[in-house]
Amino acid sequence: MTWVSKGVAAPEVSAPAAATELRQTRTSPSAGTWTATVTGPSAPEGATPVVAAVHVVGARRLLGFTSSWGLEFEPRSWPASEPVTVEVTSGRSSNQASPWLGVETADGACVLTLHWSGNWRLTSTPAADGVLVEVGLHPDGQQLHLAAGEVAELPAVSLGWGASTLAASAALAGHLRGQVPPGPPLLTEWNHWWPYEDAEITEDLFLANARQAADLGLDVAVLDAGWFGRSDAGSDWVAERGDWHLVNAVRFPHGLRWLADQTRALGVDFGLWVEAEAVGPAATVAQQRPGLLALDASGERLGYICLGSPEGREHIYATVHRLVEETGARWLKWDFNLDPGSGCTRTDHGHRGDDGLLQHYRGLYAVLDRLRAAHPGTVLEACASGGLRVDAGLAAHVDGFFLSDPDWTEHALAVLWGAAQMLPPRQLLHWPESEWRGEHRFQKVDYSGTLLTVDQFDTKIRAALLHRFGLSVRLTELRPDLRERLRTHVATWTAVVRPLLTAGVLVPLTLQPLREEQGHRQPAFQLSAGDEHVVAAFRLPPTGSWQPVRPIGLADDAGYTVATVDGADHLDPMVLTGAVLAATGLPAPPASATSALWSVRRTTTGAAQVG
Ligand SMILES: [Zn+2]
Repeated sequence: MTWVSKGVAAPEVSAPAAATELRQTRTSPSAGTWTATVTGPSAPEGATPVVAAVHVVGARRLLGFTSSWGLEFEPRSWPASEPVTVEVTSGRSSNQASPWLGVETADGACVLTLHWSGNWRLTSTPAADGVLVEVGLHPDGQQLHLAAGEVAELPAVSLGWGASTLAASAALAGHLRGQVPPGPPLLTEWNHWWPYEDAEITEDLFLANARQAADLGLDVAVLDAGWFGRSDAGSDWVAERGDWHLVNAVRFPHGLRWLADQTRALGVDFGLWVEAEAVGPAATVAQQRPGLLALDASGERLGYICLGSPEGREHIYATVHRLVEETGARWLKWDFNLDPGSGCTRTDHGHRGDDGLLQHYRGLYAVLDRLRAAHPGTVLEACASGGLRVDAGLAAHVDGFFLSDPDWTEHALAVLWGAAQMLPPRQLLHWPESEWRGEHRFQKVDYSGTLLTVDQFDTKIRAALLHRFGLSVRLTELRPDLRERLRTHVATWTAVVRPLLTAGVLVPLTLQPLREEQGHRQPAFQLSAGDEHVVAAFRLPPTGSWQPVRPIGLADDAGYTVATVDGADHLDPMVLTGAVLAATGLPAPPASATSALWSVRRTTTGAAQVG
């Protein structure tokens, strides 16, 4: 691939402190991972885990993303001549900012990310010939205490570099593909949440939708929040979290095992949502097992079970293990809807008062690894109020990430552009625009009514097609023509997109589209694995006429078979050379279309065979 740039030098990565040893633990073309180890004794008051210092020569501009609920991957930039600190103190790795920094230089760019799900800090200091970026954990709740001779491994840092930020990011995401757990096959899902939430979901509604999911060729029907806690039609999922041993028998009178069996009998697998770490204010587990709870310095409950304690780890493992055993769940959506801040300060958990967050996340990774080993056929999806705990650390322990709660198309493409800078597409999941039961000013779609055009529907689906696929709509009420389009899209994803995801890289071909009619208005993305590519392009409002969409990474003199792949506005396959595609772009979509999806497949090896 030509976006793996040759001739751009790797940045210089060094250990930040005398007691630290830094090793490069994985290497890819134009990317690598470095891991630091620290040897005790640490100072009596503890040490702040600083992971690495990255020296980037010729730095001109720094790039980053702020991140908050429904506003993930909001771009920021700073001149390299200014000192810059980007950090997270919420206790969730991507609530406040994303753990990612880009450094543009005179002849290219370098991007870096920290493999950690808690608090972190990136500090850039101007140097005579560029910048020095210090990468580390934020000291809040993450102090390191080591006895003399004791050795600890710190979270890793990964870097990619290349001729541009996008090239460097593609190298980084491609490199991070190497740490993805092998995992089960890439399954598709229907999830009940947005049209029904907890208030309206029942076993009848779930099964009626599961029947439609099976008919459409989807793999799993996922039961989201609302199934646990007291048997009360009006119970609120937030309050009940933690009572995973109770099933709300008003909504699910036959229980989960029966529901899962019925779901499978309809021809689709069963999946389950859980927020295993959380303890809601009404949960009985707080009274029954007070020793598990994370507490702050004043003794107040932090709303979660501390995984810094062996009892907490065992409780959460046993709870989730039982749920998967009982239901045969093929998909587990693991949510986390609270900010632990600097974490648990208890001293009876086997951790210290000032390292509760550090030990919680070490414990979380261990619990997730144990669950994956026990249930290798179950998809493990991470979620945190949407995309507020998305990082390369957690990425080594889960199959994928839910990117954001809202998913109207413009927002989804803005988020996808950012997420693709950091993670491989096989770890990304975001639904096409969901039908929301609740209020959101941009989430207004209705797939049962007459207003939506097929073109608008196709565009919404295509925006969510270049990574893992799932959706959250009322399948039982889908307009018949849209149902048939959805059937085609699911088949396209399964036949054309999925084979490229396992080893694929997703590269934005344009600048970032932004929310509320800002940013680039014709975003395009290319999913590539070897010599096979799928390209999606979008015209967002305010819409102009189509500009050329130029694929990248093609060999000039090779022949490529180009075709549109998902039905409407079908284009017969044609063979074009890489040079022609790079110069003039893909065959233009119809002027009225607001999106297009092409497959580009190398069919001849070079000029001699193009004839
Ligand atoms: Zn604790």
